[in-house]
Amino acid sequence: MSVGGFKTTGHFIIFWETEKAGEKLPFSELRCLRCGRRYRPAKDLYVCRSCGGKLDVIYDYQLIAEEINREKLARRKSGVWKYFELLPLMNRKNIVSLGEGGTPLIPATSLAKELKVKHLYLKDETRNPTSSFKDRPMSVGVSKAVEFGARAVVCASSGNAAVALSAYAAKAGIKCHAFVPAGAPESKVAQLLMHGAHVVQPKERSNGDPTYKLMQESWKKFGWHPIPSGGAFNPYQPEGSKTISYEVCEQLGWQVPDWVIVPTGAGTLLSGNAKGYFEFQQMGLTREVPRLVAIQAEGCAPIVKAFKEGTPPYEIQPWPNPKTVAGGLVDPYPWDADTAIPAIKRSNGTAASVSDAEILEAVKRLARSEGIFAEPSGAAGLAGLKRLLDEGVISGSDIVVVEVTGGGLKDVATAMKMVEKPVMIDSRLEQLRELLVEMGKSGTRILA
Ligand SMILES: *Cc1c(COP(=O)(O)O)cnc(C)c1O
Repeated sequence: MSVGGFKTTGHFIIFWETEKAGEKLPFSELRCLRCGRRYRPAKDLYVCRSCGGKLDVIYDYQLIAEEINREKLARRKSGVWKYFELLPLMNRKNIVSLGEGGTPLIPATSLAKELKVKHLYLKDETRNPTSSFKDRPMSVGVSKAVEFGARAVVCASSGNAAVALSAYAAKAGIKCHAFVPAGAPESKVAQLLMHGAHVVQPKERSNGDPTYKLMQESWKKFGWHPIPSGGAFNPYQPEGSKTISYEVCEQLGWQVPDWVIVPTGAGTLLSGNAKGYFEFQQMGLTREVPRLVAIQAEGCAPIVKAFKEGTPPYEIQPWPNPKTVAGGLVDPYPWDADTAIPAIKRSNGTAASVSDAEILEAVKRLARSEGIFAEPSGAAGLAGLKRLLDEGVISGSDIVVVEVTGGGLKDVATAMKMVEKPVMIDSRLEQLRELLVEMGKSGTRILA
């Protein structure tokens, strides 16, 4: 059989590279990133049978390039499934969709002025059905599980992935089991329960991640299909995140940005984004690939640390005692560092961590200058941009895309701590006047 694949040197994956035409659309097989073994997709095959390694979906880009081109894409309706040929589903009838993807790429004119960058765009992923980009991967993951005849799915998640999974499972009419850490924002847990998920919260925060431990131990035992956020236990769902990159290329009129800044936890989103850009380049749809930037929170930054210190991905140790306001970025063990770090390097990108204070400032900036209400994890990319501009890594004349990955209503408690409470008065004009005078004294311009 002749298919595309990865070149590996020891543990290090150099990258996606098609060798020769494969046999069928839309994709031909899975390949283990650790030991190189190849498989036909099958119902219970979510990790390598031989070494437990992560599987990657291999496509035949030559064949797909005959099928789609810029003009054909321009005529299709926007959204994740617009790129069906580049997604790992065999039959369109299995698509489980809530209208994910096709999000706007917004020119951030006010922020661009504030930060002194010429070309700044925000990819507003808060507009997805459950208000985070995770709807893209979960639409793909659940569709594939449905294609395999799944009756139940399971995930380990700090919130958003579980929420998205529970919504798509509800739409598909299958059961969703979610292992969620204690301390996940109440608004996310409410969403989960409302969609009918069976939510279990492990008590301890042991070294590593107890939610992943439970998921790994339970899925085979109970015949559930694992669809966690990370790609290490499901090769299909990470493919959904490629569509962000496809959209950015199209939305910029096939110009590729200089930088794409990605809030990063386990590295799944960044790995998916990278795959998308490299695929479009390989298919001849674009000439270049943007420099990819991973932004992590200082309180949990294993990928940034490994990138800076040159630690081989499989030797990364779980981050001890993670602590940050950006709960969506807390992945003590970065399951997809083995694809994320090579992608950052290959794209000539970089990685940086930001403090909680910088993240919260970015939340306010987005809300007040651009009208976008993001959760802290969703705004981390903007905090990272500011840091890299200050450090002179990114130049003011570069074309920059910042991904805003999750909406602010997902973490209302944090938002309420950042704002001043509304003032209560009697409903009399005199009291309002007194209040305005008072505010005027403290420097707030109220009266025109
Ligand atoms: C999951 C998530 C990310 C990125 O996480 P990865 O684990 O790196 O894929 C970023 N922002 C938000 C809001 C998220 O929920």
